[in-house]
Amino acid sequence: MSQTELPPSAAPADSTRSYWTDVTPQALYDKCMTVARNLWWSWHPEVINLFRDLDPVRWRQLDHNPIALLSEMTPEQLAQRASEMVLYTRINQAHRRLNEYLNNTNTTWGARHAGVLGSMPVAYFSAEFGIHESVPIYSGGLGVLSGDHIKSASGLNVPLVAIGLFYDQGYFKQQLNTEGWQQEEYLNTNVEEMPMEPARDPKGRPITIEIDTRDGRLLAKVWLMRVGRIKLYLLDCDVEGNRPEDRELTSRLYGGDTRTRIRQELVLGVGGVKALRAMGITPGVYHLNEGHSAFATLEVMRERMHDDGLPFDEALREVARRTVFTTHTPVPAGHDRFDGKLMEEHLGPLREKLGISYEQLMGLGRVEPQNEGETFCMTVLGLKLSRRANAVSNLHGHVSRRMWANLWPWRVEEEIPIGHITNGVHIPSWLAYPMAQLYDKYLGTEWHIRMGEPGVFEGVYNIDPGEFWETHNALKSRLLEFVRRRISRQCRRRNEEESLIEAARNVLDPNALTIGFARRFATYKRANLFIRDIETICELLDDGNRPVQFIFAGKAHPADEPGKKFIQEIANLRHDSRLKDRIVFIEDYDINVARHLIQGVDVWMNNPRRPLEASGTSGQKVVLNGGLNFSILDGWWAEAYNGKNGFAIGDGKAHIDVEKNDQRDAEDLSRVLSEEVVPLFYDRDAFGLPLKWIDRVFNSIATLGAQFSAHRMVIDYTEKAYLIAAGGVTSEMTQR
Ligand SMILES: *Cc1c(COP(=O)(O)O)cnc(C)c1O
Repeated sequence: MSQTELPPSAAPADSTRSYWTDVTPQALYDKCMTVARNLWWSWHPEVINLFRDLDPVRWRQLDHNPIALLSEMTPEQLAQRASEMVLYTRINQAHRRLNEYLNNTNTTWGARHAGVLGSMPVAYFSAEFGIHESVPIYSGGLGVLSGDHIKSASGLNVPLVAIGLFYDQGYFKQQLNTEGWQQEEYLNTNVEEMPMEPARDPKGRPITIEIDTRDGRLLAKVWLMRVGRIKLYLLDCDVEGNRPEDRELTSRLYGGDTRTRIRQELVLGVGGVKALRAMGITPGVYHLNEGHSAFATLEVMRERMHDDGLPFDEALREVARRTVFTTHTPVPAGHDRFDGKLMEEHLGPLREKLGISYEQLMGLGRVEPQNEGETFCMTVLGLKLSRRANAVSNLHGHVSRRMWANLWPWRVEEEIPIGHITNGVHIPSWLAYPMAQLYDKYLGTEWHIRMGEPGVFEGVYNIDPGEFWETHNALKSRLLEFVRRRISRQCRRRNEEESLIEAARNVLDPNALTIGFARRFATYKRANLFIRDIETICELLDDGNRPVQFIFAGKAHPADEPGKKFIQEIANLRHDSRLKDRIVFIEDYDINVARHLIQGVDVWMNNPRRPLEASGTSGQKVVLNGGLNFSILDGWWAEAYNGKNGFAIGDGKAHIDVEKNDQRDAEDLSRVLSEEVVPLFYDRDAFGLPLKWIDRVFNSIATLGAQFSAHRMVIDYTEKAYLIAAGGVTSEMTQR
């Protein structure tokens, strides 16, 4: 995009006014605010740069929140700044492009392929949405996936509305103390600075929904957040009329006990359906992500029985026909379970309206309906009340079919009706601008609209390796700059000695092979696997000719002591004289930290205990940015790796003895690192270019770029699930 200003002389000759003098400061301000209030800006680098140019320092300090930034300025100050920085054209352009995006929908993929969903959209439910670092209503993978899903639905123009919760404290902020122990802090989000407004019913009135429990009535208001063409509705219990403790019900993401949890899930599922109804939206499909929102099915059943006079069994079939359920984890603790008492307290009134007994209700969430010893499992409810269920990678499909085989005891495992649609990432949100420009140059700009189609990145082999390497290294420098800034800030905050702060300012070597590892510190992700064999790793990292360095980040759940121990172990490696300049831990992993890391690393490492990683998406973000994956053959990598497009740890098998398994994977990790990754990276030609490495990167981009994009994922969901569920085709989804 051209950033040059149009000179006044270029204004139409018959105009007595210059090009922009009719723009009052207020009108200019309103344009900026309109753009800031649609998260569309968050995946448009030229608009992000525009906001940054308004005040680079505050932009960073305010977590890249344009509403907060604009709120600090008067329209006159904005106009002054726009004049100094020659921003008028860019502001106009951003505003115009947003409007064009919202209005020009005729040529979109969705207009051609998903038109039938138009009046009856997909209702996409998720407990978290990770859209941008300035909107803290996510904790990790599920949230970022949901955010990427709705962004791609927006890009493709698939008719979809999203339902979630507004957490006014979100997930915690992480700091490490001098011992390397995780400290959690919850900050209040300023609602005024969020890109949302009260959602309204067809008559224009703000909406409050009510849910009856045995213990009284719960209220929630509904917010509307605009994410491009998609409307995201967020329920919020901080409402007058709720008891004080209930006003805090939706304050924190994954905080509180099981009672908090069931109440949050009641609001998300039942409340979500009520909110849609209040707004006059009739979904054609309900897409439930994870068991959290599965209570939605019961409320939709109640609607069908009440509105259409359907008997219970028929309502159940009808709802199941329209419901798509996605399970996102094979880890048992990831599936919510509630005891009968909590269930009756919260679902009792709805159960009565459904005309079913306590035992019948409990049966819907049990593998064996009559088994009184079984608690109510939200995933079981989701699986029973959906005709189409899926896992999030091929391998996770196998694991899920085995895991839930007892629900269909009369079927062999291959016929368990759980298919898979592998996760993908929203490319425009994760791709570094300079890399995108390189693709524009060599692939033509067509790739922007075809990014989910096979073959679209095959032209990558035409890119000049030297130009590619230069772009990659520029991104790597940007990452190191970010790391140095964050690490020195961390040291200063802990009041460390000046020598340590000074060292932090120069930490890491721009020429060294740089490996990133960032994710939740759940123990099955084995963040400390690479230091099981500390001697080998020290030798490897310390090789003067071929140095290697690591950047770590990630939060442990506040109740996960072993996870926190892993963090401590890694953070404290900075005190080991052999490793101190080679390993850093960046606090407070979030979308911003993730973006810097995945855009700048040479290698992305992932070593979960197979097969516990359902899919994983962080490695997918690395692909188009020119990094290589170095990972256990688990989740998405098990179907992505072809021997030439990255590196594998292990052979895709897992020993049943956990200790043996870990030991074997640790040995393989060091071996592949020292025998394959390091030599390939340091194999240079006369100009210093690692041509074989670059070739592997090109293989990665060509074979994985489109396949693991969220555009491909949303197209798959639309074709394999949404259209069928909306159209009433009765075959079950078995996409294998
Ligand atoms: C992408 C992302 C995740 C998910 O990554 P995994 O590969 O599932 O570990 C988690 N947190 C953030 C902030 C992300 O950007």
